[in-house]
Amino acid sequence: MVKAKTAIYKIPVIPLKDVTVFPGMVIGIATTTRQAKLAAEAAYQKDKLILFLLNKTNISEPDTKDLFKTGTIGVIRQFLRTNGDVKLLVEGLYRTKVSGVSQKKPFIKVSAEKVRDLIKNEEEIIALRSNFTKKFRNLIDRGKTFPVEILISVLSTNDTNKLIDLIIPYMEAKTEEKQEILEEEDTEKRLEKSLKILDHNLSLLKLEEKLTSKTHEELNKMQKEVFLREQLKTIQKELGGREGSEFGELEEKIVKAGMPKDVENKAKKELARLKIIPSFSPEVGFIKTYLDWLVALPWSVKSKTEVDIKKAQKILDEDHYGLTKIKERVIEYLAVQKITGKVKGPILLFVGPPGTGKTSIGQSIAKATSRKFTRMSLGGIRDEAEIRGHRRTYVGALPGRIIQGIKNIGTRNPVFMLDEIDKVGLDFRGDPSAALLEALDPEQNFQFSDHYLEAPFDLSDCFFITTANILDTIPPALRDRMEVIPFPGYTEEEKFHIAKQFLIPKQLKINGLLQFNIKFKDDAISKMISEYTKEAGVRELERTIASVLRKLTRKISEGEKTLEFISYSKIKEFLGSAKYLPLVIGKKSLTGSSYALAVTPAGGEVLQVESAVVPGKGSLILTGQLGNVMKESAQASLTYVRSKLEKDKSLSFKNQDIHIHVPAGAVSKDGPSAGTAIAASLYSEVTSKPIRKDIAMTGEITLKGTVLRVGGIKEKVLAASRAGIKTVILPKENESDLEDIPLKTRHSLNIFLVSNMDEVLKAALT
Ligand code: ADP
Repeated sequence: MVKAKTAIYKIPVIPLKDVTVFPGMVIGIATTTRQAKLAAEAAYQKDKLILFLLNKTNISEPDTKDLFKTGTIGVIRQFLRTNGDVKLLVEGLYRTKVSGVSQKKPFIKVSAEKVRDLIKNEEEIIALRSNFTKKFRNLIDRGKTFPVEILISVLSTNDTNKLIDLIIPYMEAKTEEKQEILEEEDTEKRLEKSLKILDHNLSLLKLEEKLTSKTHEELNKMQKEVFLREQLKTIQKELGGREGSEFGELEEKIVKAGMPKDVENKAKKELARLKIIPSFSPEVGFIKTYLDWLVALPWSVKSKTEVDIKKAQKILDEDHYGLTKIKERVIEYLAVQKITGKVKGPILLFVGPPGTGKTSIGQSIAKATSRKFTRMSLGGIRDEAEIRGHRRTYVGALPGRIIQGIKNIGTRNPVFMLDEIDKVGLDFRGDPSAALLEALDPEQNFQFSDHYLEAPFDLSDCFFITTANILDTIPPALRDRMEVIPFPGYTEEEKFHIAKQFLIPKQLKINGLLQFNIKFKDDAISKMISEYTKEAGVRELERTIASVLRKLTRKISEGEKTLEFISYSKIKEFLGSAKYLPLVIGKKSLTGSSYALAVTPAGGEVLQVESAVVPGKGSLILTGQLGNVMKESAQASLTYVRSKLEKDKSLSFKNQDIHIHVPAGAVSKDGPSAGTAIAASLYSEVTSKPIRKDIAMTGEITLKGTVLRVGGIKEKVLAASRAGIKTVILPKENESDLEDIPLKTRHSLNIFLVSNMDEVLKAALT
């Protein structure tokens, strides 16, 4: 080590930018300026001593005035020339202060004096120094690193200033701050300034620590999540690979379901949700059910339909006897479809009593247009949700019945028959008929929105047919959009042919009797119709035939000889004696009793109307399950009779009650068509003039006794004929409806057409 001198002359200076060299420091320097290079050369040649001074400016070859006056003298330990540059390794020796300039060019040479260490208050210095070392240790504790040789030097020194010189170069601080410490002669002040720098470094370390721990935390959280997800996957795999493959299967089904893109995306999103929610969550079930529904719907499955009018006509004729007008109407409808290529136009509404062939015609339409056939009953639906589904937030929510039907049939263009549209209720739980319209109306149903699906389903290729027993109770909004095709029922003769050609062969087949060549005698068929059934359609008849054939099958299986012809007596043997007898038309006519013709959900019906005048207070009593319209009709009849009689012979009802009763109370009856019959029975009762028992009538009456047009003439006349009535009284306004009545029936009856009550009374009273 070079011995320190208090004064040095003509020492070459290397100006330094951004670094304050301290005694004890070992520093590598590459001289880039000519000034520095020459200074280094000169120093190396002489005594290897060089003075480092901090350059205050940015000038690369500064003047002496640009340099701080205090610097550190160092000794060159290594000298290396590379590519014209000089590289030095220098060890700082002691602090010096310039006392004079001896050369400025081509490099600076100065005279300098060693900086004295001023120690004024020893105790103070000891205290400060102990604080300094404490902070230094603290720095090390907090992770500050120093070269090992510095640590060793620090440990082995008692010299406060040396301690400062060793540590400060490794501190974060501005070069000027370090320069200040280098220049300071007063040790106490040096310590104070150094302590500040140490404090600053400590707080920097603390901040750093805080930041690291925070990033660490974040990192931990992320890692935890990744870890958990991985674990979840492993668990799912462990659970027999079942869940994994189930998801895979579902995904495949979603892709294959042919959904519209929007719906497919929605399904995929739900599947993604399903994958991450824990399997014990109740949501899993909900989402699975939902996805099962989505993938099971025939979004793009259609039967290949064709409308061949000739073929359609053939199928309709083959499957049905009679129904000529209906078949015609259906064929027209199909023709329009064939031309427009769409299921457009009004929705078909088949109205008629049970067993009149509504379903059967629907099935034939499906066959004729190569569509699948499905049906659903709307009877008793009161809740909109039954049509349109419940929202998924409901527990146990499901799609509505329309979507259910579509799913079950598996194509989106079937013939879809909606039965009992006349029994759709309307109450506080929304309006099912509005939802129905949305499903049925070709203008809106290409985007039918089911609450459960949350996605529109295209119903526009569905061929909807609705059916009803009666027109009156169909919500008007629905009826407006429908094309009504009446199925009025059959005459006895039509029933006979239907039984012979269709029902009997069908039942023989069902009961496995085809090979036995069994036939019904004609009179057996007729008697089955007249004595064992009482209906507008042929349902009961079909059941009766089935019942006979079942009994026969049993006999055959018990080894009895097969019958070739089933006679009336055999029927009686199988079924017991007649269930229905023709209306007993008594020889004696009764007063106060008449027969009305009406239409009930079961078809045309002959109803008895009875009136009685009893002592009382002049009130009107009505019994027998009468609807509001029928009650009003009774009121009007009474007023008519009163006004007529009061004119005739001023009869007073003041001390009498009028009781009108329509027996068969189990059947609810409504409508205005019993008006004439009620008025006739009342008039007969009051005047004691009996009414003929073989007569039945229908017609609405006004207060003045005018007879108005009513509906269902064909059904009513058929019912009268079935009941053995000989004469019917009909409103004159209904004359055109007579065309619908089969000729045979028309000829077997006396038909009176009337326009007022007087004519009714004239015909009916004996
Ligand atoms: P609805 O739907 O009107 O209650 P269906 O169509 O179910 O009546 O008819 C009941 C039974 O009567 C079915 O077996 C049907 O084939 C038969 N049927 C009804 N009308 C006729 C008809 N005109 N020709 C042949 N069979 C018929």
